Amino acid sequence: MSTFSAPRGTYDLIPPDSADFLAVREGIAAPLRRAGYGYVETPGFEQAELFFRGVGESTDIVTKEMYTLTTRGGDELALRPEGTASVLRAALQANLHRGALPVKLWYSGSYYRYERPQAGRYRHFSQVGAEALGAEDPALDAELIVLAADAYRSLGLRGFRLLLNSLGDKECRPVYRAVLQDYLRGLDLDEETRARIEINPLRVLDDKREHVRKQLAGAPVMSDHLCEGCKGYHEQVRELLVAAGITFEDDATLVRGLDYYTRTTFEFVHDGLGSQSAVGGGGRYDGLSEMIGGPPLPSVGWALGVDRTVLALRAEGVRPAPAAPPLVYAVPLGEEARRTLFGLVTQLRRDGVAADFAYGGKGVKGAMKAAHRSGARYAVVLGERDLAQGVAQLKDLQSGEQRPVGLEALAGELTGRRE
Ligand code: ATP
Ligand code: MG
Repeated sequence: MSTFSAPRGTYDLIPPDSADFLAVREGIAAPLRRAGYGYVETPGFEQAELFFRGVGESTDIVTKEMYTLTTRGGDELALRPEGTASVLRAALQANLHRGALPVKLWYSGSYYRYERPQAGRYRHFSQVGAEALGAEDPALDAELIVLAADAYRSLGLRGFRLLLNSLGDKECRPVYRAVLQDYLRGLDLDEETRARIEINPLRVLDDKREHVRKQLAGAPVMSDHLCEGCKGYHEQVRELLVAAGITFEDDATLVRGLDYYTRTTFEFVHDGLGSQSAVGGGGRYDGLSEMIGGPPLPSVGWALGVDRTVLALRAEGVRPAPAAPPLVYAVPLGEEARRTLFGLVTQLRRDGVAADFAYGGKGVKGAMKAAHRSGARYAVVLGERDLAQGVAQLKDLQSGEQRPVGLEALAGELTGRRE
């Protein structure tokens, strides 16, 4: 222990567990790359206003979860709480929307929210996300949902469910909003929730508290109020998903935490995670570009939580990245042997063979123990007598079998045994 520890709500990724995080990031990104999504990286902080305007002033993120700071120069910045607003900002700034559409982008990074820390809910967490900007096409919504489902499946995750809804558009949503407000105003709710009815009544439907949920049972739902355009669009998304073999559940109460969503909205949940069950989610956000001062740019995207995906895999007992031990562990006995084997290990690594070395001047007993602990298949032991004879002892650590191999032939022999 040092005097310091990781701040509350954060944790370090340490081997061997950290390999699972890398595997999850890679596993989510691979299908995106194959589908033509280009990698985008934006700063860890932005002008706070980007999120106030984009993410929505009635969201938990903006009202209580955002890390904001004033710089020495007087700029109001915020650590990014999510990726979509930043990616859209970057695409508009680079004028990508003036080129071929849709612009398809993916990203991977850290996000920051001042939340109450608990299992699966952290103040610093990791997402991989994808956004398709500048096209209104149900096939694009379906493509993204299929890519997310395929990513989870390729990682070995089985127990996830896809919840699907449509939140309507600027034509039908306001009508529904008014109907919903009328209904909600008649319920027995606390001050804060009553205030929310006036700012963003749809978010009240997302309330997880039991006494609120009970009262919401008879609330009017968006699906009964969709305009013809939205209804047709949603039906096409559903048909494409069915054709792609994706199972989903229509969930009329699904509204999600961000204010910018329109039409297609979805969430992936996993039942092995307790109350932090959402492993990822997303949807269409046709109005967001205009909200942040850009041109009309209908778009759709998602973000998958890396931390919770790792937890979900663990809950299912799946290890996405089983430890990869070295093939060879070098055990030098004496100074000259050390130089020779250091050269061998360097050459093996350059030839693509995973190899490690007994550092720290261990005696033969300690070094052999380290060789076994490393999980290596072979140990190469080089002593003074071996050196004099121009050989090294190649020991199979599984069978215990050992035989001398000429120093010249050693690298070739081991490279040939690479898996
Ligand atoms: P929740 O309802 O659990 O708060 P959210 O709606 O705020 O989730 P999004 O903003 O849609 O989540 O982010 C997408 C994904 O990122 C979530 O499904 C989740 O897996 C992950 N995520 C969000 N917030 C956190 C957090 N504080 N810690 C860990 N993962 C998170
Ligand atoms: Mg949240």
